[in-house]
Amino acid sequence: MVSLSVCNGAPNRKVTEKPKVMTEQQHKANPYYSRTVTTTLTLSDAVWKKVLSPAVYEVARHGSTEQAFTGKYWDYEGRGTYFCAACGNMLFRSDAKFSSTCGWPSFFETVRSNSVLYRKDLSFGMERTEVVCGRCKAHLGHVFDDGPPPTGKRFCMNSILLEFEPDKS
Ligand code: FE
Repeated sequence: MVSLSVCNGAPNRKVTEKPKVMTEQQHKANPYYSRTVTTTLTLSDAVWKKVLSPAVYEVARHGSTEQAFTGKYWDYEGRGTYFCAACGNMLFRSDAKFSSTCGWPSFFETVRSNSVLYRKDLSFGMERTEVVCGRCKAHLGHVFDDGPPPTGKRFCMNSILLEFEPDKS
């Protein structure tokens, strides 16, 4: 499902259910998944298709966008860390997440400068900056210049490519 709207206004629904926490053990089908190994992954599309779930594969490798207000994290406020669902790379801290009305989880900065990579995206007659995972190059979403201080950036992400790990304390 491709959704191109940037901000549609706030919806009526509020997610109360806690997102399910994924662990490395739950990635048995994906031997490339790791939250500690940072080596860059260069795998063929056929391999990704085999090791990812169809829904994650579709967004990660074909750049699809989940429908606004449908993902598990768009209004989630738990304290913790978000990892790439395709490879386990650390992407965002909850401290950098902000309440956005666009219907996708939004962050003003990544954990590390090399957590993600950027690509110019000229699809659909627009000029946007695509954000891909710095380790596996999975499509994560786009970044816009209308975010809050201190960066002014809005990393507009697909929930399905994120996995949340709550802080231990
Ligand atoms: Fe990744």
